[in-house]
Amino acid sequence: MKKVTTVCPYCGAGCKLNLVVDNGKIIRAEGANGATNQGELCLKGYYGWDFLNDTKLLTPRLTQPMIRRERGGKFEAVSWDEAIQYTAKRLSEIKAKYGPRSIMTTGSSRGTGNETNFVMQKFVRAVIGSNNVDCCARVCHGPSVAGLRQTLGNGAMSISIEGIEKSNCLLVFGYNCADSHPIVARRVVKARENGAKIIVCDPRKIETARIADQHLQLKNGSNMALVNAFIYTLIEENLYDKEYVAKYTEGFNGLWDEVKDYAPEQVEEITGVAASDIRQAMRTYAAAPSAVIMWGMGVTQFGQGTEVVKGLSTVATLTGNLGREGAGVAPVRGQNNVQGGCDMGVLPDLFPGYQKVTDPVAREKFAKAWGIDPESMDKEEGVRITQVPHLALEGKIKAYYIMGEDPLQTEADLSLVRKGIEALDFLVVQDIFMTKTAEQADVILPATSWGEHGGVFTCADRGFQRFEKAIEPQYNVKRDWEIISLIATEMGYPMHYENNQQIWDELRELCPLYYGATYEKMEGLGHVQWPCPTLDHPGTPYLYKNNEFATPSGKAQLFATAWRAPAEIPSSDYPLVLCTVREVGHYSCRSMTGNCAALKALADEPGFVQIHPSDAKVLGVEDQQLVWVESRRGKVITRVNFNERINPGAVYMTYQWWIGACNELTQDNLDPTSKTPETKYCAVKVSAVADQ
Ligand code: SF4
Repeated sequence: MKKVTTVCPYCGAGCKLNLVVDNGKIIRAEGANGATNQGELCLKGYYGWDFLNDTKLLTPRLTQPMIRRERGGKFEAVSWDEAIQYTAKRLSEIKAKYGPRSIMTTGSSRGTGNETNFVMQKFVRAVIGSNNVDCCARVCHGPSVAGLRQTLGNGAMSISIEGIEKSNCLLVFGYNCADSHPIVARRVVKARENGAKIIVCDPRKIETARIADQHLQLKNGSNMALVNAFIYTLIEENLYDKEYVAKYTEGFNGLWDEVKDYAPEQVEEITGVAASDIRQAMRTYAAAPSAVIMWGMGVTQFGQGTEVVKGLSTVATLTGNLGREGAGVAPVRGQNNVQGGCDMGVLPDLFPGYQKVTDPVAREKFAKAWGIDPESMDKEEGVRITQVPHLALEGKIKAYYIMGEDPLQTEADLSLVRKGIEALDFLVVQDIFMTKTAEQADVILPATSWGEHGGVFTCADRGFQRFEKAIEPQYNVKRDWEIISLIATEMGYPMHYENNQQIWDELRELCPLYYGATYEKMEGLGHVQWPCPTLDHPGTPYLYKNNEFATPSGKAQLFATAWRAPAEIPSSDYPLVLCTVREVGHYSCRSMTGNCAALKALADEPGFVQIHPSDAKVLGVEDQQLVWVESRRGKVITRVNFNERINPGAVYMTYQWWIGACNELTQDNLDPTSKTPETKYCAVKVSAVADQ
């Protein structure tokens, strides 16, 4: 029996755990004393390893390479040599015929690790010759990355998860940490126990609202109006830090013009929040010696997501709540390595280390390291994953190489995504399970799973942590980066790595932000937060010390803009708002958690539609009754769950249920900057199944 210290593969809290392995099998998990979790785990950490036993509870493990030579035909098991040669040949043909930009790829924010993401973006940039690589950050915290890079210079949490409990005030906006990051929620509780004030802005009475000093139960889709009213109040009531604003910021002069029509009294109707509550919230926030704004996808998954992020950043900046312990901005990244995917440059506009692909100096540096002609690199930004269905239907994207993502479950407006996938000439899926997307592939490349390999993840607070191999893979599978390297080599660009560390060291040499984050420093329970520029640097628990911002001018940028209503507002035909949410026992497309026996037993049917009893009465539906939920794009069958903690007029569903994914209903109204879809808001109707 042995214990292997590793990192949980689910959420961005980055909990360290010990896997207890007996006779080559994991038999249990125990909390380890990691920087973010200090010995505690949630139920996914304790019970989320069982999928490694190929339980086939939801979907089978991919155990060998497979090719389907004709659409509609059957998968045929093939050797690795044949799968690699076939994939390389088809990609080379498509590149030659339609150009490098006709091929799209993804990194993965899940169990594969930073090293693989680095290799994938290198493959795209050095071998394919485009910047067409993206990851699921696009559909979650893309607006946080885009917005904070503009206002403060870094698209990441400015503080540590550990630092949350050191704050005197938490403004929690559109973020249900109890379901999304239970161990982060513990920090919120500890902050409360330490005397912190808590202000929650959320349409639902989420768990955090139960311990809050104030709950601003705003209407769905009114975020920007409320943030503008916050900024208005800070200025009008002289609550902002004038000296800080004068010294460290730019843009104050135009700010009042943007918010002058958003007095709290003027936005009561839009937001549904009493003016006195808005004013009190800002008085509390501004009076706190240190304050943190935490947010989640209740901010980002709207057509105005990036602008709201910039507005929240402005609230923090106006009050000088940056650059100190316990003060800052905290977009709490969802999946375990979605921060890492961004750090590694599986983004269409950025090389690893947030270096712009449009910068000739950066291109020269990467080209030299990779032994290619800088002129062969694409000088333009690549395609975002949410643009793929449209571009495939226009004939501009012909091939899609998807690694560790399941867009046919997790992306908005699935009928559109399905049509886009069908329009492709060639679909390669590299994964561990037969997901909905894998079922449509031309080639399946089976990869090792978390537990069967090691590497580095980045948790939500920029902390690099090593995760370790616990068991030997049982099937004919390969490490993700090895598969990519074999395809690259077959396409004429020899690529070979001996191990994870070799890749990591190549990355460090190319990225000043990460240079000092060595494997040795991350050993065991190590947690090294970037920036970590030198070998003797300990890492950076909070950003913007001395109020030095990573913007071009070195100053924080202030921002506000007019509120826009969501794209599809309720009507008499579709009278309810649908908002997608998470469920604590499952994760992402559920391919991993749905194959864990204990999690299945604890949360077997996370596919409820939550309805307020007052709406249910009008609709004539009972608790637990089967209903249709229908939007202009599709309909799904699900079960009613009465819930008095949600707001009347809105219904809530998780996207994790395998049958009836609520993304059949959602819409792809994209935030203009980040191209993140408005999955938190569309119009639906609900009717009893018997009525159909
Ligand atoms: Fe894993 Fe997140 Fe739960 Fe921690 S809080 S055990 S990282 S799912």
